[in-house]
Parts: sequence; structure tokens; C-alpha cells
Amino acid sequence: MPDSCPVCGQHYEPETGFYWGAMYISYGLAVGVVFVAGMLTYFLGHDPATWVYVSVVAACMILLTPLLFRYARALMLYGFGGIRYDPMAAPRRSA
Ligand SMILES: [Zn+2]
Repeated sequence: MPDSCPVCGQHYEPETGFYWGAMYISYGLAVGVVFVAGMLTYFLGHDPATWVYVSVVAACMILLTPLLFRYARALMLYGFGGIRYDPMAAPRRSA
């Protein structure tokens, strides 16, 4: 991850260790994924054997972990980093 945005210059890390909090957001997102995958497996598979649940949930987590990692960081930055979208930031910087 770069230190700052190449377009507008926004610094991405407000303070040292800022993204440790993103682990909690990532955990919450992962719990949601496990819950939804488990419920879909239950209803679509008509309550299959335990190994099917484990396989489906593990596959979903392996496939979605890169997305969860990035979305957790983005949500942390927008929620607690004090950053707001400014459509004029890039034109101001380049001008
Ligand atoms: Zn930017």
C-alpha cells in the first residue's frame, strides 16, 4: 500500500498502527460471510453433512479474504481516519 494517494496526495496512515483496528472490522465481515455461507449451505443443500459446511465455508473464506482485507482497511480509513471524499482534491493539486 502506498504512503499516499498518487492522485490527490491524501496520506493513508493517519497514525502509526492505525490499521490494527481494521482487524476487528475484518473479523466482523468474516463472521458475516461464515453466517451467510452456512445458511445458504443449509437451505440449498438441505442440511448436508458437516464436512460440506466446513468445505463451503473454508472455500468462501479463502476466496474472499483478499476482499475482506481491503474492505476492512477502507472502512477503517473512512470510519475512523477523518477522511471525507472531496471531488475537487485532485484538480486542486494538479492546478
Ligand atoms: Zn486520492
